[in-house]
Amino acid sequence: MSEIWQRSFNIVFIITIAAVVWLIFGATKALLFLSVALLWMVFLHLRHLVALERWLQLSDHTPASIPAGSGVWDDVFAHLARYVRQHSQSQERLSSALEQMQSATAAMPDGVVILDESNRIEWCNPVAEHHLGINLAMDVGQPIIHLVRQIPFVEYLTARRYSDPLVLKQMRQQGLIISLQLVPYGYNQKLLISRDITRFEKIETMRRDFIANVSHELRTPLTVISGFLETLASTDEVSPDFNKRALTLMTEQATRMQRLIEDLLVLSRLEDVHNKVKEKIVDVAILLNELLREAESLSGGRHRIKLMISSDDKLRGSEEELRSAFGNLISNAIRYTPDYGEIVINWEKCNGQGLFFVQDSGIGIEKEHIPRLTERFYRVDSSRSRETGGTGLGLAIVKHIVNRHDARLEITSQVGKGSRFAIWFPATKSLVSEIK
Ligand code: ADP
Repeated sequence: MSEIWQRSFNIVFIITIAAVVWLIFGATKALLFLSVALLWMVFLHLRHLVALERWLQLSDHTPASIPAGSGVWDDVFAHLARYVRQHSQSQERLSSALEQMQSATAAMPDGVVILDESNRIEWCNPVAEHHLGINLAMDVGQPIIHLVRQIPFVEYLTARRYSDPLVLKQMRQQGLIISLQLVPYGYNQKLLISRDITRFEKIETMRRDFIANVSHELRTPLTVISGFLETLASTDEVSPDFNKRALTLMTEQATRMQRLIEDLLVLSRLEDVHNKVKEKIVDVAILLNELLREAESLSGGRHRIKLMISSDDKLRGSEEELRSAFGNLISNAIRYTPDYGEIVINWEKCNGQGLFFVQDSGIGIEKEHIPRLTERFYRVDSSRSRETGGTGLGLAIVKHIVNRHDARLEITSQVGKGSRFAIWFPATKSLVSEIK
Protein backbone atom coordinates (compact mmCIF):
# COMPACT_ATOMS: atom_id res chain seq x y z
CA MET A 1 0.00 0.00 0.00
CA SER A 2 2.75 2.38 0.99
CA GLU A 3 4.65 1.53 -2.25
CA ILE A 4 1.62 2.43 -4.40
CA TRP A 5 1.29 5.65 -2.42
CA GLN A 6 5.00 6.45 -2.96
CA ARG A 7 4.78 5.71 -6.72
CA SER A 8 1.62 7.88 -7.15
CA PHE A 9 2.83 10.69 -4.87
CA ASN A 10 4.00 12.94 -7.73
CA ILE A 11 0.69 12.59 -9.64
CA VAL A 12 -1.40 13.18 -6.50
CA PHE A 13 0.78 16.19 -5.59
CA ILE A 14 0.39 17.72 -9.08
CA ILE A 15 -3.39 17.07 -9.12
CA THR A 16 -3.72 18.65 -5.65
CA ILE A 17 -1.76 21.78 -6.73
CA ALA A 18 -3.85 21.90 -9.97
CA ALA A 19 -7.05 21.77 -7.88
CA VAL A 20 -5.77 24.61 -5.65
CA VAL A 21 -4.85 26.66 -8.80
CA TRP A 22 -8.37 25.96 -10.20
CA LEU A 23 -9.96 27.25 -7.00
CA ILE A 24 -7.79 30.37 -6.88
CA PHE A 25 -7.10 31.23 -10.58
CA GLY A 26 -9.76 29.36 -12.49
CA ALA A 27 -9.83 26.32 -14.82
CA THR A 28 -7.63 27.66 -17.63
CA LYS A 29 -4.65 28.32 -15.35
CA ALA A 30 -5.18 24.97 -13.66
CA LEU A 31 -5.16 23.15 -17.04
CA LEU A 32 -2.05 25.09 -18.09
CA PHE A 33 -0.30 24.13 -14.89
CA LEU A 34 -1.35 20.51 -15.30
CA SER A 35 -0.04 20.37 -18.90
CA VAL A 36 3.33 21.86 -17.94
CA ALA A 37 3.68 19.48 -14.98
CA LEU A 38 2.78 16.42 -17.09
CA LEU A 39 5.18 17.51 -19.86
CA TRP A 40 7.94 17.78 -17.27
CA MET A 41 7.12 14.26 -16.03
CA VAL A 42 7.18 12.88 -19.61
CA PHE A 43 10.53 14.61 -20.17
CA LEU A 44 11.95 12.97 -17.03
CA HIS A 45 10.75 9.52 -18.13
CA LEU A 46 12.18 10.03 -21.62
CA ARG A 47 15.53 11.02 -20.13
CA HIS A 48 15.64 7.76 -18.13
CA LEU A 49 14.52 5.74 -21.15
CA VAL A 50 17.35 7.23 -23.23
CA ALA A 51 19.82 6.39 -20.44
CA LEU A 52 18.48 2.82 -20.33
CA GLU A 53 18.68 2.46 -24.11
CA ARG A 54 22.31 3.70 -24.10
CA TRP A 55 23.15 1.21 -21.36
CA LEU A 56 21.53 -1.64 -23.31
CA GLN A 57 23.74 -0.80 -26.27
CA LEU A 58 26.92 -1.20 -24.20
CA SER A 59 28.91 -4.37 -24.97
CA ASP A 60 29.78 -5.01 -21.32
CA HIS A 61 26.80 -4.96 -18.96
CA THR A 62 28.23 -4.54 -15.46
CA PRO A 63 26.15 -3.40 -12.45
CA ALA A 64 28.51 -0.40 -12.08
CA SER A 65 27.67 0.87 -15.58
CA ILE A 66 23.91 1.01 -14.88
CA PRO A 67 22.75 4.71 -14.93
CA ALA A 68 21.43 6.42 -11.79
CA GLY A 69 17.71 7.11 -11.74
CA SER A 70 15.14 8.92 -9.70
CA GLY A 71 11.59 8.07 -8.67
CA VAL A 72 10.27 4.84 -10.16
CA TRP A 73 13.41 4.63 -12.33
CA ASP A 74 15.55 4.33 -9.24
CA ASP A 75 13.74 1.06 -8.47
CA VAL A 76 13.90 -0.13 -12.09
CA PHE A 77 17.68 0.44 -12.23
CA ALA A 78 18.18 -1.19 -8.80
CA HIS A 79 16.31 -4.32 -10.03
CA LEU A 80 18.33 -4.26 -13.22
CA ALA A 81 21.59 -4.07 -11.23
CA ARG A 82 20.50 -7.05 -9.11
CA TYR A 83 19.56 -9.02 -12.23
CA VAL A 84 22.90 -8.23 -13.91
CA ARG A 85 24.78 -9.25 -10.76
CA GLN A 86 22.91 -12.58 -10.54
CA HIS A 87 23.36 -13.18 -14.25
CA SER A 88 27.12 -12.58 -14.12
CA GLN A 89 27.40 -14.85 -11.06
CA SER A 90 25.59 -17.71 -12.81
CA GLN A 91 27.66 -16.99 -15.93
CA GLU A 92 30.83 -17.37 -13.84
CA ARG A 93 29.53 -20.58 -12.31
CA LEU A 94 28.69 -21.92 -15.77
CA SER A 95 32.04 -21.05 -17.29
CA SER A 96 33.93 -22.55 -14.35
CA ALA A 97 31.82 -25.74 -14.70
CA LEU A 98 32.58 -25.71 -18.43
CA GLU A 99 36.28 -25.19 -17.77
CA GLN A 100 36.25 -28.07 -15.30
CA MET A 101 34.45 -30.27 -17.80
CA GLN A 102 36.93 -29.33 -20.52
CA SER A 103 39.98 -29.96 -18.34
CA ALA A 104 38.46 -33.29 -17.19
CA THR A 105 37.85 -34.40 -20.78
CA ALA A 106 41.27 -33.08 -21.83
CA ALA A 107 42.84 -35.29 -19.15
CA MET A 108 40.95 -38.33 -20.41
CA PRO A 109 43.07 -40.91 -22.21
CA ASP A 110 40.23 -41.34 -24.73
CA GLY A 111 39.12 -38.92 -27.42
CA VAL A 112 35.60 -37.45 -27.20
CA VAL A 113 33.75 -35.73 -30.05
CA ILE A 114 30.24 -34.27 -29.66
CA LEU A 115 28.23 -34.58 -32.88
CA ASP A 116 24.91 -32.85 -33.60
CA GLU A 117 21.90 -34.50 -35.25
CA SER A 118 23.50 -34.06 -38.71
CA ASN A 119 26.79 -35.60 -37.50
CA ARG A 120 28.58 -32.24 -37.51
CA ILE A 121 31.33 -31.57 -35.00
CA GLU A 122 30.16 -29.45 -32.07
CA TRP A 123 33.12 -29.95 -29.78
CA CYS A 124 36.00 -32.35 -29.17
CA ASN A 125 38.86 -32.80 -26.72
CA PRO A 126 42.57 -32.59 -27.68
CA VAL A 127 42.97 -36.41 -27.69
CA ALA A 128 40.23 -36.68 -30.34
CA GLU A 129 41.96 -33.90 -32.31
CA HIS A 130 45.13 -36.02 -32.26
CA HIS A 131 43.39 -39.33 -33.05
CA LEU A 132 41.14 -38.08 -35.85
CA GLY A 133 43.19 -35.20 -37.27
CA ILE A 134 40.60 -32.58 -36.20
CA ASN A 135 41.50 -28.93 -35.67
CA LEU A 136 38.64 -27.85 -33.42
CA ALA A 137 39.09 -24.12 -34.04
CA MET A 138 38.73 -24.65 -37.80
CA ASP A 139 36.54 -27.74 -38.00
CA VAL A 140 33.63 -26.84 -35.72
CA GLY A 141 30.43 -27.39 -37.71
CA GLN A 142 32.14 -29.68 -40.25
CA PRO A 143 30.51 -33.08 -40.93
CA ILE A 144 32.67 -35.72 -39.20
CA ILE A 145 32.85 -37.77 -42.43
CA HIS A 146 34.80 -34.92 -44.06
CA LEU A 147 37.58 -35.63 -41.57
CA VAL A 148 37.23 -39.38 -41.02
CA ARG A 149 36.67 -40.49 -44.58
CA GLN A 150 37.28 -44.24 -44.31
CA ILE A 151 34.40 -46.22 -45.83
CA PRO A 152 33.99 -48.56 -42.81
CA PHE A 153 33.46 -45.47 -40.60
CA VAL A 154 30.89 -43.95 -42.99
CA GLU A 155 29.07 -47.30 -43.02
CA TYR A 156 29.25 -47.56 -39.23
CA LEU A 157 27.84 -44.05 -38.87
CA THR A 158 24.93 -44.64 -41.22
CA ALA A 159 24.12 -48.22 -40.15
CA ARG A 160 23.09 -46.92 -36.69
CA ARG A 161 24.23 -50.11 -34.96
CA TYR A 162 26.58 -48.68 -32.40
CA SER A 163 26.72 -51.49 -29.82
CA ASP A 164 30.17 -52.69 -30.97
CA PRO A 165 33.19 -50.47 -31.52
CA LEU A 166 34.79 -50.09 -34.95
CA VAL A 167 38.54 -50.62 -35.38
CA LEU A 168 40.22 -48.27 -37.87
CA LYS A 169 43.76 -48.98 -39.01
CA GLN A 170 44.54 -46.57 -41.82
CA MET A 171 44.52 -43.36 -39.82
CA ARG A 172 46.25 -40.19 -41.03
CA GLN A 173 49.08 -40.93 -38.66
CA GLN A 174 51.11 -43.90 -39.78
CA GLY A 175 50.81 -46.97 -37.60
CA LEU A 176 48.01 -45.62 -35.41
CA ILE A 177 45.19 -48.07 -34.70
CA ILE A 178 42.01 -46.58 -33.24
CA SER A 179 38.84 -48.07 -31.83
CA LEU A 180 35.77 -45.84 -32.38
CA GLN A 181 32.42 -46.09 -30.63
CA LEU A 182 29.34 -43.94 -31.12
CA VAL A 183 27.09 -43.34 -28.12
CA PRO A 184 23.73 -41.66 -28.90
CA TYR A 185 22.38 -39.22 -26.31
CA GLY A 186 20.00 -36.27 -25.92
CA TYR A 187 18.04 -35.23 -29.02
CA ASN A 188 19.72 -37.19 -31.84
CA GLN A 189 23.15 -36.11 -30.62
CA LYS A 190 26.07 -38.49 -30.44
CA LEU A 191 29.30 -38.89 -28.54
CA LEU A 192 32.13 -40.34 -30.61
CA ILE A 193 34.67 -42.01 -28.33
CA SER A 194 38.09 -42.81 -29.81
CA ARG A 195 40.69 -45.02 -28.14
CA ASP A 196 44.29 -45.68 -29.18
CA ILE A 197 44.61 -49.49 -29.30
CA THR A 198 47.89 -49.59 -31.26
CA ARG A 199 49.81 -51.22 -28.38
CA PHE A 200 47.03 -53.68 -27.64
CA GLU A 201 46.74 -54.67 -31.32
CA LYS A 202 50.53 -55.10 -31.56
CA ILE A 203 50.53 -57.38 -28.50
CA GLU A 204 47.59 -59.30 -29.97
CA THR A 205 49.43 -59.72 -33.29
CA MET A 206 52.58 -60.80 -31.45
CA ARG A 207 50.54 -63.34 -29.46
CA ARG A 208 48.94 -64.74 -32.63
CA ASP A 209 52.31 -64.88 -34.45
CA PHE A 210 53.93 -66.50 -31.44
CA ILE A 211 51.32 -69.27 -31.23
CA ALA A 212 51.53 -69.83 -35.00
CA ASN A 213 55.35 -69.97 -34.82
CA VAL A 214 55.47 -72.38 -31.88
CA SER A 215 52.90 -74.64 -33.55
CA HIS A 216 54.89 -74.55 -36.77
CA GLU A 217 58.17 -75.31 -34.94
CA LEU A 218 56.62 -78.27 -33.12
CA ARG A 219 54.74 -79.65 -36.11
CA THR A 220 57.81 -80.58 -38.18
CA PRO A 221 59.54 -82.79 -35.58
CA LEU A 222 56.20 -84.29 -34.55
CA THR A 223 55.42 -85.15 -38.19
CA VAL A 224 58.79 -86.90 -38.51
CA ILE A 225 58.33 -88.87 -35.28
CA SER A 226 54.72 -89.87 -35.98
CA GLY A 227 55.65 -90.82 -39.56
CA PHE A 228 58.30 -93.25 -38.31
CA LEU A 229 56.01 -94.57 -35.59
CA GLU A 230 53.26 -95.28 -38.13
CA THR A 231 55.70 -97.07 -40.43
CA LEU A 232 57.09 -99.11 -37.55
CA ALA A 233 53.59 -100.00 -36.37
CA SER A 234 52.42 -101.12 -39.82
CA THR A 235 55.53 -103.08 -40.75
CA ASP A 236 55.86 -106.62 -39.45
CA GLU A 237 59.53 -107.01 -39.97
CA VAL A 238 61.69 -103.94 -39.78
CA SER A 239 65.25 -104.08 -41.03
CA PRO A 240 67.89 -103.27 -38.40
CA ASP A 241 69.17 -100.47 -40.68
CA PHE A 242 65.77 -98.80 -40.92
CA ASN A 243 65.28 -99.29 -37.19
CA LYS A 244 68.56 -97.56 -36.45
CA ARG A 245 67.89 -94.69 -38.84
CA ALA A 246 64.38 -94.22 -37.46
CA LEU A 247 65.63 -94.17 -33.88
CA THR A 248 68.41 -91.70 -34.72
CA LEU A 249 66.06 -89.33 -36.53
CA MET A 250 63.35 -89.61 -33.89
CA THR A 251 65.89 -88.86 -31.16
CA GLU A 252 67.14 -85.85 -33.15
CA GLN A 253 63.61 -84.48 -33.52
CA ALA A 254 62.77 -85.16 -29.88
CA THR A 255 65.93 -83.30 -28.86
CA ARG A 256 64.91 -80.44 -31.13
CA MET A 257 61.50 -80.23 -29.45
CA GLN A 258 63.12 -80.43 -26.05
CA ARG A 259 65.49 -77.55 -26.91
CA LEU A 260 62.57 -75.49 -28.15
CA ILE A 261 60.55 -76.10 -24.98
CA GLU A 262 63.60 -75.30 -22.82
CA ASP A 263 64.19 -72.02 -24.69
CA LEU A 264 60.51 -71.12 -24.41
CA LEU A 265 60.61 -71.73 -20.67
CA VAL A 266 63.77 -69.61 -20.34
CA LEU A 267 62.08 -66.79 -22.31
CA SER A 268 58.94 -66.92 -20.20
CA ARG A 269 61.03 -66.80 -17.00
CA LEU A 270 62.97 -63.80 -18.34
CA GLU A 271 59.76 -62.00 -19.32
CA ASP A 272 58.18 -62.54 -15.91
CA VAL A 273 58.25 -59.11 -14.22
CA HIS A 274 58.19 -60.75 -10.79
CA ASN A 275 61.35 -62.71 -11.56
CA LYS A 276 64.03 -60.26 -10.46
CA VAL A 277 67.69 -60.77 -11.42
CA LYS A 278 69.42 -62.85 -8.75
CA GLU A 279 72.56 -60.76 -8.54
CA LYS A 280 75.96 -61.92 -7.40
CA ILE A 281 79.52 -61.07 -8.32
CA VAL A 282 80.35 -63.02 -11.46
CA ASP A 283 83.98 -63.71 -12.28
CA VAL A 284 83.85 -63.17 -16.03
CA ALA A 285 87.28 -64.71 -16.66
CA ILE A 286 86.32 -68.01 -15.00
CA LEU A 287 82.94 -68.03 -16.77
CA LEU A 288 84.48 -67.40 -20.19
CA ASN A 289 87.10 -70.11 -19.69
CA GLU A 290 84.32 -72.60 -18.96
CA LEU A 291 82.41 -71.41 -22.03
CA LEU A 292 85.56 -71.71 -24.15
CA ARG A 293 85.82 -75.42 -23.30
CA GLU A 294 82.13 -75.91 -24.24
CA ALA A 295 82.70 -73.97 -27.49
CA GLU A 296 85.68 -76.14 -28.41
CA SER A 297 83.66 -79.26 -27.87
CA LEU A 298 80.77 -77.86 -29.96
CA SER A 299 83.14 -76.86 -32.76
CA GLY A 300 84.88 -80.24 -32.68
CA GLY A 301 88.11 -78.65 -33.86
CA ARG A 302 86.55 -77.11 -36.98
CA HIS A 303 87.30 -73.54 -35.91
CA ARG A 304 90.12 -71.54 -34.38
CA ILE A 305 88.65 -70.17 -31.17
CA LYS A 306 90.57 -67.46 -29.28
CA LEU A 307 89.73 -66.14 -25.81
CA MET A 308 91.07 -62.66 -25.05
CA ILE A 309 90.67 -61.27 -21.54
CA SER A 310 92.27 -57.89 -20.92
CA SER A 311 90.31 -56.89 -17.83
CA ASP A 312 90.00 -58.58 -14.47
CA ASP A 313 86.78 -56.67 -13.76
CA LYS A 314 83.89 -58.73 -12.56
CA LEU A 315 80.21 -58.26 -13.20
CA ARG A 316 77.32 -57.83 -10.82
CA GLY A 317 74.53 -59.93 -12.28
CA SER A 318 72.97 -63.34 -12.59
CA GLU A 319 75.63 -65.94 -13.38
CA GLU A 320 73.06 -68.26 -14.92
CA GLU A 321 71.70 -65.55 -17.22
CA LEU A 322 75.12 -64.21 -18.22
CA ARG A 323 76.26 -67.76 -19.00
CA SER A 324 73.18 -68.19 -21.18
CA ALA A 325 73.68 -64.87 -23.04
CA PHE A 326 77.43 -65.33 -23.64
CA GLY A 327 76.90 -69.02 -24.47
CA ASN A 328 74.18 -68.26 -27.03
CA LEU A 329 76.39 -65.71 -28.83
CA ILE A 330 79.37 -68.09 -28.83
CA SER A 331 77.34 -71.04 -30.12
CA ASN A 332 75.83 -68.81 -32.86
CA ALA A 333 79.34 -67.77 -33.92
CA ILE A 334 80.31 -71.45 -34.25
CA ARG A 335 77.07 -72.40 -36.04
CA TYR A 336 77.24 -69.56 -38.55
CA THR A 337 80.98 -69.77 -39.29
CA PRO A 338 82.18 -72.26 -41.90
CA ASP A 339 84.94 -74.72 -41.04
CA TYR A 340 88.40 -73.28 -40.46
CA GLY A 341 86.91 -69.92 -39.61
CA GLU A 342 88.11 -67.84 -36.67
CA ILE A 343 86.14 -66.93 -33.55
CA VAL A 344 87.33 -64.41 -30.95
CA ILE A 345 85.75 -64.21 -27.51
CA ASN A 346 86.73 -60.99 -25.78
CA TRP A 347 86.35 -59.32 -22.37
CA GLU A 348 87.76 -55.85 -21.80
CA LYS A 349 87.17 -52.51 -20.19
CA CYS A 350 86.36 -49.79 -22.69
CA ASN A 351 85.62 -46.15 -21.77
CA GLY A 352 84.79 -47.25 -18.24
CA GLN A 353 82.29 -49.84 -19.45
CA GLY A 354 82.59 -53.61 -19.48
CA LEU A 355 82.72 -54.87 -23.05
CA PHE A 356 82.06 -58.49 -23.99
CA PHE A 357 82.04 -59.49 -27.61
CA VAL A 358 82.16 -62.48 -29.90
CA GLN A 359 83.64 -61.86 -33.32
CA ASP A 360 83.48 -64.47 -36.05
CA SER A 361 84.70 -64.76 -39.62
CA GLY A 362 81.42 -66.40 -40.64
CA ILE A 363 78.72 -65.89 -43.23
CA GLY A 364 77.73 -62.44 -41.97
CA ILE A 365 74.27 -60.85 -41.98
CA GLU A 366 72.73 -58.41 -44.45
CA LYS A 367 72.07 -54.96 -43.02
CA GLU A 368 68.28 -55.07 -43.29
CA HIS A 369 68.02 -58.16 -41.07
CA ILE A 370 70.05 -56.77 -38.16
CA PRO A 371 67.29 -54.74 -36.42
CA ARG A 372 64.98 -57.80 -36.43
CA LEU A 373 67.42 -60.49 -35.26
CA THR A 374 66.30 -60.33 -31.63
CA GLU A 375 62.63 -60.97 -32.54
CA ARG A 376 61.42 -64.38 -31.51
CA PHE A 377 61.78 -66.96 -34.34
CA TYR A 378 63.35 -64.44 -36.71
CA ARG A 379 65.93 -66.19 -38.87
CA VAL A 380 67.93 -64.99 -41.84
CA ASP A 381 68.37 -68.49 -43.18
CA SER A 382 65.82 -70.89 -41.68
CA SER A 383 67.29 -74.08 -43.05
CA ARG A 384 70.81 -73.29 -41.78
CA SER A 385 69.38 -72.40 -38.38
CA ARG A 386 67.46 -75.69 -38.12
CA GLU A 387 70.30 -77.81 -39.56
CA THR A 388 72.58 -76.53 -36.84
CA GLY A 389 70.00 -77.12 -34.11
CA GLY A 390 68.77 -73.52 -33.76
CA THR A 391 65.43 -72.73 -32.18
CA GLY A 392 65.24 -69.13 -33.44
CA LEU A 393 65.00 -67.94 -29.84
CA GLY A 394 68.68 -67.52 -28.92
CA LEU A 395 69.03 -63.80 -29.65
CA ALA A 396 65.60 -63.04 -28.13
CA ILE A 397 66.90 -64.64 -24.92
CA VAL A 398 70.16 -62.65 -25.19
CA LYS A 399 68.23 -59.39 -25.67
CA HIS A 400 66.12 -60.02 -22.55
CA ILE A 401 69.16 -60.81 -20.44
CA VAL A 402 70.97 -57.73 -21.75
CA ASN A 403 67.99 -55.54 -20.80
CA ARG A 404 67.71 -57.12 -17.37
CA HIS A 405 71.36 -56.15 -16.76
CA ASP A 406 70.84 -52.56 -18.02
CA ALA A 407 73.33 -53.39 -20.75
CA ARG A 408 73.27 -52.75 -24.50
CA LEU A 409 73.51 -55.23 -27.38
CA GLU A 410 75.41 -54.04 -30.45
CA ILE A 411 75.44 -56.08 -33.67
CA THR A 412 77.77 -55.28 -36.55
CA SER A 413 78.23 -57.51 -39.55
CA GLN A 414 79.51 -57.74 -43.09
CA VAL A 415 78.17 -60.37 -45.46
CA GLY A 416 80.83 -62.95 -46.24
CA LYS A 417 83.29 -61.45 -43.75
CA GLY A 418 81.76 -62.09 -40.35
CA SER A 419 79.81 -60.61 -37.47
CA ARG A 420 80.45 -59.07 -34.08
CA PHE A 421 77.92 -59.37 -31.27
CA ALA A 422 78.90 -57.05 -28.40
CA ILE A 423 77.36 -56.45 -24.98
CA TRP A 424 78.20 -53.18 -23.23
CA PHE A 425 77.73 -53.25 -19.45
CA PRO A 426 77.37 -49.87 -17.73
CA ALA A 427 80.10 -49.15 -15.19
CA THR A 428 77.63 -47.74 -12.69
CA LYS A 429 75.28 -50.70 -12.62
CA SER A 430 77.02 -53.93 -13.31
CA LEU A 431 80.74 -53.45 -13.29
CA VAL A 432 82.69 -53.97 -10.12
CA SER A 433 86.31 -52.93 -10.47
CA GLU A 434 87.58 -54.02 -7.09
CA ILE A 435 86.21 -57.00 -5.30
CA LYS A 436 87.25 -57.42 -1.70
P1 ADP B 1 68.87 -69.45 -34.22
O1 ADP B 1 68.49 -70.50 -33.28
O2 ADP B 1 68.15 -69.52 -35.52
O3 ADP B 1 70.33 -69.30 -34.37
P2 ADP B 1 69.02 -66.87 -32.94
O4 ADP B 1 67.95 -66.08 -32.31
O5 ADP B 1 70.18 -67.26 -32.13
O6 ADP B 1 68.28 -68.11 -33.56
O7 ADP B 1 69.55 -66.08 -34.19
C1 ADP B 1 68.63 -65.52 -35.09
C2 ADP B 1 69.21 -65.49 -36.49
O8 ADP B 1 70.28 -64.55 -36.52
C3 ADP B 1 69.79 -66.78 -36.94
O9 ADP B 1 68.81 -67.61 -37.50
C4 ADP B 1 70.83 -66.35 -37.96
O10 ADP B 1 70.19 -66.16 -39.20
C5 ADP B 1 71.28 -64.99 -37.44
N1 ADP B 1 72.56 -65.07 -36.71
C6 ADP B 1 72.74 -65.14 -35.37
N2 ADP B 1 74.04 -65.16 -35.07
C7 ADP B 1 74.71 -65.09 -36.23
C8 ADP B 1 76.11 -65.07 -36.59
N3 ADP B 1 77.07 -65.11 -35.68
N4 ADP B 1 76.40 -64.99 -37.92
C9 ADP B 1 75.46 -64.95 -38.84
N5 ADP B 1 74.12 -64.97 -38.58
C10 ADP B 1 73.77 -65.05 -37.29
